[in-house]
Amino acid sequence: MALTPAQLLDELMGPNRNALPNEAKSELHWSDDNVCKRFLCGFCPSQLFTNTRSDLGPCEKIHDENLRQLYKKSKRNGKMQYEEDFLRYLQSIMADVERRIRRGHQRLSLNAKTKENKDISQEDEEKVMEISRDINALIPQVEELGSEGRVDEAQALTEQIDKLKEQRERIQAVVISIIKDPMSNQDKQMEVCETCGAFLIVGDAQSRVDDHLMGKQHMGYAKIKLTIEELLVIFVHHFLFMCMYYW
Ligand SMILES: [Zn+2]
Ligand SMILES: [Zn+2]
Repeated sequence: MALTPAQLLDELMGPNRNALPNEAKSELHWSDDNVCKRFLCGFCPSQLFTNTRSDLGPCEKIHDENLRQLYKKSKRNGKMQYEEDFLRYLQSIMADVERRIRRGHQRLSLNAKTKENKDISQEDEEKVMEISRDINALIPQVEELGSEGRVDEAQALTEQIDKLKEQRERIQAVVISIIKDPMSNQDKQMEVCETCGAFLIVGDAQSRVDDHLMGKQHMGYAKIKLTIEELLVIFVHHFLFMCMYYW
């Protein structure tokens, strides 16, 4: 969704953009409802994945560096439940990507099975050709028997040809269903990125590996993962400190 001109200016210059340098700044406080608390805690995830398939949509709240600094210096820093909410939100984003990673693994194992089928399909194709050869050999015999007036024998051979044709159609139907599966035509070995869930080619060129690692989605999820770990360490330290304090 596009930002309105006012939102864009807020992003670029901060919400106090209209205040003159020596003028008292507006009354905006970091605890106000319209201030993004995730941004105060570190960053707003809505800004990480813009225009990717992981796009979280725009955040309507104010992101202001000045307010973040004021929150950092405030005595109430860390006591507002903002960090706890931030952690829960980041964990919910990671839960989604972990589901995507699991689905990716399932797809790859299915793909491996289809590949086995593909080998079988080559066998099948040979079989189809063999049957076609048999049919082609039988047709002149039927004509010959017919011209000699040996109707019963000609009839029996025609039935045999029909059975062969049915057999050929059955095999062809299976072969077509395998060929139609798009993943079965993927000859390169694939793997799932354990950070962002993207499909990667095993042993791909280093430049493409680097492009992936520097990409918006991978970097975004790596940042979220790291932040979750950092927040958990902080919470454990707080908890231990509190235990010692009250003991
Ligand atoms: Zn935000
Ligand atoms: Zn990745």
